[in-house]
Amino acid sequence: MSLNFGRLQLAIPGPSIIPDRVLAAMHKPSPNIYYGPLVDMVDTLYPDLKTVAQTKHDMAIYIANGHGAWEAALKNTLIEGDKVLILGTGRFPLTWAEMAQSHGIKTEIIQFGMHDDADVAKVREALSADTKGEIRAVLAVQTDTASSVKNDIPAIRKAIDETGHNALYMVDCIASLGCDEYHMDEWGVDVTITACQKGLMTPAGIAFVYFNDKAKEARKRAKPGEYWDWVLRTQSDIFYRQFDGTAPTQHLYGIREALDILVHEEGMKACWKRHETQAKAVWAALDGWGTLQPNIADPEKRSTAVTTVKTAPGQATAIREWCEQSAGLVLGIPLGFEGKDADRYFRIGHMGHLNPPMLLGALTTIETAMKALKIEHEEGAISAACQVLANHKSD
Ligand SMILES: *Cc1c(COP(=O)(O)O)cnc(C)c1O
Repeated sequence: MSLNFGRLQLAIPGPSIIPDRVLAAMHKPSPNIYYGPLVDMVDTLYPDLKTVAQTKHDMAIYIANGHGAWEAALKNTLIEGDKVLILGTGRFPLTWAEMAQSHGIKTEIIQFGMHDDADVAKVREALSADTKGEIRAVLAVQTDTASSVKNDIPAIRKAIDETGHNALYMVDCIASLGCDEYHMDEWGVDVTITACQKGLMTPAGIAFVYFNDKAKEARKRAKPGEYWDWVLRTQSDIFYRQFDGTAPTQHLYGIREALDILVHEEGMKACWKRHETQAKAVWAALDGWGTLQPNIADPEKRSTAVTTVKTAPGQATAIREWCEQSAGLVLGIPLGFEGKDADRYFRIGHMGHLNPPMLLGALTTIETAMKALKIEHEEGAISAACQVLANHKSD
């Protein structure tokens, strides 16, 4: 007998749950794309998206997923034969590195594995060893969505500065923007990359690349080709040119509504605080059960958008399958864990459009799965999660 009725709930690290308001905002007939309300509305997206990343610099919109934004950042700043330093925390930086290699860019990868953040001493060491200044850019993720580690973005900036190295600093915030606290300008990031389907609560399909003056300098030497060129997108007053073709009209309505919710109603500070509380509730449940471990041991180094969970062999797959098939809760599959380790991990996405009934629903369903599967666990974990939520203060 299955209890799997009602609404399917995603607790995966992207795509995230889309607010009904965003879906409703997208449910409109195609507008006039030459002039009028749509064209005027798109102008309002730029300042709000800059608020989300805490930057005053430029931003280009692409019809793309996160991979497209990765490519745009590489193509606008680098040429074939250039070298980049990749901070290999978890899985996603390695995928970005493979993309760079596919463009003929040389990659030096520091491997930090699946359980750690980037060690700034190693970053310093690699940049100091580059006496010829061959490294053109340092590539890092804020949150690695596979290991759920969060890198210390300002500390990496400090390490770069301490070596006096001139490399560009590019940060992938695809999983973290609108979840983990982020200050592009204050933290000295040159290029920030994100996409709309995680913290920004909109169906996958548009992506954003933010770039400062130093990145603009690098663009002068690069050869991005027409489609990825951020100059054409940001300096054209012809609407059609901003998208290098037809605008993704319904997506633009969707992101407008999502930004109303995020920037104008909740506000970034409250949003970051809410994510912190949500994440702590998940960790309190893990501590309470005793059987399931967070993959990242130090809470300071955990993402507030996703938590990767370690179980005894085979349990992770069994829990995921029970939650999905018997209860209608989709948990994240393991990514980046090799061989016999792979079936020991699952991921809980807790990003974006989430409130206590949704979050507690997911946690309680995981506990229900453990009861159904006779996986030993302590009682009181859900109560501990409730207590974290009860203690929430938004400022
Ligand atoms: C999701 C994600 C990506 C890839 O985004 P796609 O939209 O799937 O191409 C890249 N980096 C990070 C950190 C992510 O979380």
